[in-house]
Amino acid sequence: MKSILDVDELPKRWYNILPDLPEPLPPPLDPETNEPVKPQKLERIFVKELVKQEMCSDRYVEIPFQVREMYLKIGRPTPIYRANNLEKELNTPAKIYFKYEGETITGSHKINTAIAQAYYAKKQGIERLITETGAGQWGTALSVAGSLLGLKIRVYMARASYFQKPYRKILMNVYGAEVYPSPSNRTEVGRKFLKENSEHPGGLGIAISEAIEDVLKDEKARYSLGSVLNHVVMHQTIIGEETRVQMEKIGEEPDILVGCVGGGSNFAGFAYPFIRDILQQKDEYEIYAVESRAAPSMSRGIYTYDYGDSGGLTPKIKMHTLGHTYYVPPIHAGGLRYHGLAPTLSVLINNEIVKPLAYHQREVFDAAVLFAKSEGVLPAPESAHAIKAAVDLAIRARRIGEKKTILFNLSGHGLLDLQGYDNFLNNRLEDYEPNEFPVEK
Ligand SMILES: *Cc1c(COP(=O)(O)O)cnc(C)c1O
Repeated sequence: MKSILDVDELPKRWYNILPDLPEPLPPPLDPETNEPVKPQKLERIFVKELVKQEMCSDRYVEIPFQVREMYLKIGRPTPIYRANNLEKELNTPAKIYFKYEGETITGSHKINTAIAQAYYAKKQGIERLITETGAGQWGTALSVAGSLLGLKIRVYMARASYFQKPYRKILMNVYGAEVYPSPSNRTEVGRKFLKENSEHPGGLGIAISEAIEDVLKDEKARYSLGSVLNHVVMHQTIIGEETRVQMEKIGEEPDILVGCVGGGSNFAGFAYPFIRDILQQKDEYEIYAVESRAAPSMSRGIYTYDYGDSGGLTPKIKMHTLGHTYYVPPIHAGGLRYHGLAPTLSVLINNEIVKPLAYHQREVFDAAVLFAKSEGVLPAPESAHAIKAAVDLAIRARRIGEKKTILFNLSGHGLLDLQGYDNFLNNRLEDYEPNEFPVEK
């Protein structure tokens, strides 16, 4: 009998890049001892199975049946499209394709790991997941996953976004999640930042600190992170694995891959299944990871051990960082406002397998509007960073007359980011480019 899960493109396994990396990944350090952190210690914060996946040395991890079923339900496999109109608009000999994660029920890729994390939490008997969110995509994704699996969800949302982007908060509330503006007066860390500034706009780093402090007060709660960590990145490889099958089906092979980077999860999820070919010396691709000039961890950060949060509660991880106390300016691409980077992606950048690019938000919104008008899809401001790079690469192709195939990941739609578009259209957007960063050498 045929099962509804017999969809060719829906992968049965996640890809774990750890065993294929050109050098071993430096372990996370316990800030108290500066020794590699013990799994038992991590298990008080994270779901046990996810700690195991974080350190897993198997190249593939089977996706549980129930998770695959839910992947179908939330809109996977997501489609790939050819951006023909954009090609014409740019008068380029390059072909441009994009994978569109905006077609999942929450409108971004974040639901891919949210479902997996909620599934393992439920299996362990955890009652509540606590997390942070910047602009709200991750909080929304975890709220939906919690609601589908019967888990309580609590979200600390960067205060500026909480008040500026009320619709995401409302969406989380609809799914039954509790949402608090961060810094909040619910935690010690939060109170400390509020004391400095009662209107503190908050940020991902602070919200992570609050979520972890909260978890430590509740034995039945665990913390859930939407990016950066190995297990998150691994869950996202469903994007790239699907894309490979879909490209093969239409007889196309990409030359250039592009994705935007906040913590690195959509980029990694999309690109790692192709990078696997590079690492196994089966293929060559030109690969670009695109960040904001306001949070340029890849192009201007330092590769060193740093905290994942602003309050210094997480283990230290070796990554490209701007310093955990860096306050990222309030760009509209809330998902890119992070000081650090996925450690695996840091290694690939060091080895020049992935090349970083950075853009200002005004040129990014310009590309976003061009894309919306030519292709109909309104991109999230985060995703529009990848579009801007794809547009520039298509223009380069025109200039030097190269017939390359460009494939980028469009990580989410921008239908709840209209304030940013309004500001752009009415010339109220500012570009930010800091001179220095608090990172310590
Ligand atoms: C969160 C988010 C990002 C940035 O996070 P990564 O972990 O780097 O993927 C990018 N695009 C969208 C739509 C997001 O919601």
